[in-house]
Amino acid sequence: MLGEIVSPMPPGKEEREPAAAGQQPLVFAAWNTNAAIRRESSSGGIFTLLAEQTIAKGGVVFGAAFDEQLNLRHIAVETAECLAALRSSKYLPSKTGSTFAQTKQLLAAGRDVLYTGTPCQIAGLKSFLGPGFATLLTCDVVCHGVSSERMFRKYIAALEKQHGAKATALCFRDKSSGWKNYSVRINFENGSTYRAPATEDPFMLAYLRNLCLRSGCYHCPFAAIPRQGDITLGDYWGLDLAHPELDDNRGTSLVLANTEKGKESLAALAGAIELHPSSLTQAARCNPSLTRPVGPSLQREEFMNDLDALPFAELRIKYLMPARPPSLLRRVYWRVKRLLPPGIKDYFER
Ligand SMILES: Cc1cc2nc3c(=O)[nH]c(=O)nc-3n(C[C@H](O)[C@H](O)[C@H](O)COP(=O)(O)OP(=O)(O)OC[C@H]3O[C@@H](n4cnc5c(N)ncnc54)[C@H](O)[C@@H]3O)c2cc1C
Repeated sequence: MLGEIVSPMPPGKEEREPAAAGQQPLVFAAWNTNAAIRRESSSGGIFTLLAEQTIAKGGVVFGAAFDEQLNLRHIAVETAECLAALRSSKYLPSKTGSTFAQTKQLLAAGRDVLYTGTPCQIAGLKSFLGPGFATLLTCDVVCHGVSSERMFRKYIAALEKQHGAKATALCFRDKSSGWKNYSVRINFENGSTYRAPATEDPFMLAYLRNLCLRSGCYHCPFAAIPRQGDITLGDYWGLDLAHPELDDNRGTSLVLANTEKGKESLAALAGAIELHPSSLTQAARCNPSLTRPVGPSLQREEFMNDLDALPFAELRIKYLMPARPPSLLRRVYWRVKRLLPPGIKDYFER
């Protein structure tokens, strides 16, 4: 199946044309056949399969994990048991610390390394290392952007006050109600739990409404084809339109094999992965971050100023209430969205 060439994307309005011939990725809808791992992962659990492959070769996996204070940083993992900390998307900047230098040392010693991260992190790693590391596999995620740390801290502080205890664990992508209806789940030191659908949680509303992304994310040069990693992973949003027969709402990954190394790694997962050919055109239809950065909300500047000035409860009332039932205009927009050029879409997505 992997050898099959997926039709190259026509250079449409939404996608940028790949820089060079021969860099057309193979595109798949995919998931891990291990149902428990798939449930714990944001989309189809493909990250864990790639990580297990590296660990089985005696290699080291780098990815983003929270510490006990909910600080996010990249760590090195060498056992399958420790991969749980890396699983699931965290919508914050992860500090890479000394992991680029560690990667270089491991590669120089002949070890296999899987380095995973946002496209900008993979671009940074490649620029730090230079070419020629045969045992390095890189994997970037399709990235909507990362939130301002200030917004996250204010949100956590408000919830800690409400629950009367320190937050100890957080999952942005709890799938108990399904992949598409994911919730945020936070555990507190006193045993209490917070859970809210992403459509009602104030942090996710600020993030998805593009109110609080780091300023550089709105101009990200790496949200583009060709992608930065040997493999790119994302959520296959729009699966119900592109491949309705595959949609079980348990999480399906969008997988791009961008290089020969990426294609070989995917091929070696046969037996543990469900892999279905797709195309860039289909994949990009409902996933704009695959090919271009998101635009800032028109309210972003005001929101970021108010972030310091207003108590969280007021900030919430002013900007972060769940959406009202959609207007007739918006319902019409959703129906015809796929046919519209990006400029008009940007207006409605702000
Ligand atoms: C900030 C962010 C924004 C995203 N935006 C989109 C989007 O707009 N569209 C889309 O289709 N997919 C997006 N994704 C990707 C998607 O949510 C999944 O990460 C991807 O589908 C892989 O899922 P999985 O089930 O294979 O594995 P999972 O176990 O869910 O993947 C975990 C992987 O993500 C990495 N990771 C998690 N958080 C971070 C972080 N903050 N910084 C760097 N690496 C991190 C881990 O290191 C690990 O490699 C985003 C991910 C992140 C982290």
